[in-house]
Amino acid sequence: QTPEALATLPAPRDLVATLPVYSTAGGTVPPRWRASSNESFRPPSPAVLAAIDAAARRCQRYPTLQGEPLISALSSDLGVAAAQIVAGGGSLAVLQQLLTAFAGPGREVVFAWRSYEAYPILVRLSGAQDIPVPLTAGHGHDLPAMAAAVTADTAAVILCSPNNPTGTVLGAAEVEDFLAGIPAHVVVVLDQAYIEFADDAEASSRQSLALLAAHPNLVLLRTFSKAYGLAGLRAGYLVSHPSIAAAVRAVSPPFGLNAVAEAAAVAALADTGALAANVSTVREGRIALHAALASRGLALPDSGGNFLWLPVGEGSAALEAACLAQSVSVRSFAGEGVRVTVGSRDAEAAVLRGVDAWLAGGR
Ligand code: PMP
Repeated sequence: QTPEALATLPAPRDLVATLPVYSTAGGTVPPRWRASSNESFRPPSPAVLAAIDAAARRCQRYPTLQGEPLISALSSDLGVAAAQIVAGGGSLAVLQQLLTAFAGPGREVVFAWRSYEAYPILVRLSGAQDIPVPLTAGHGHDLPAMAAAVTADTAAVILCSPNNPTGTVLGAAEVEDFLAGIPAHVVVVLDQAYIEFADDAEASSRQSLALLAAHPNLVLLRTFSKAYGLAGLRAGYLVSHPSIAAAVRAVSPPFGLNAVAEAAAVAALADTGALAANVSTVREGRIALHAALASRGLALPDSGGNFLWLPVGEGSAALEAACLAQSVSVRSFAGEGVRVTVGSRDAEAAVLRGVDAWLAGGR
């Protein structure tokens, strides 16, 4: 291209240059195990694979407009009205649509930090200002500080429980107290991407759904990417007051949930045995790996997710490299810590070998 041609290229909006980059694990050699993206290590169950196959054979056709079959399955599973559910191509996409409908220029969105790295990207994409509130020393949400960060311009607050990447869990009572102190015009998103892995998952799911009745500004965000093991297909949803759901639906692209992802999600929801097996594999691995790491003198928070957080600060890059040398990728956050996905005994053993090499090297 000539310099003249480059000079006349269309210029993107200014905000494009301000967007943080969504990064994945580093390393040039493909690792044998990926413990870096909080994916499931188990392939889909036979029932899910059969549903995927059948849907793929009909993929010359458009999917349903809004994912109605999945919405109807979720509606009976969760005991909420179909009008309260919006489904989409991953919970990321659904969150983006929520922010499109409720945030925007001149508005602010409060979230804990560190939390899920897509939040600042999606908030800025909407045109709103991101307001990150530091975690407590115990790596959990600082709810009083988050409430104090709410202003007349706040469009939404995003809570993440279990929090990615620290694993900390907010109890239903804590969320309820928080909601009581937040003005009713502010949307409160509770991102429950990892809720199925929490120790009291069923109870906390029921309790958070029960909060919806008294708090019409509450939005629960869930996904099929983690415990249901469908990250590659992209299916997620929110549950909210019907008016909020209607606004989100209004800004959602038509056919946003593809037919194969939808069929897989419906089948995965019905395959309760596969979910239970996946969750128990993760919980057992989490307990064992947490104990093994703690016995090596590492201080790490309890986690409700399919991952553990090692707050090793400046040691994070070296720890990631030590794990990669054992052919397992983990996710390091420069200067903060390393997040390790659990669920594969082989990957967990490789992580421990990496940790031992890192400790032996004087960190
Ligand atoms: N929320 C949290 C907290 C996450 O960690 C993730 C995925 N890493 C998502 C949302 C997005 O999940 P998906 O778009 O795959 O549903």
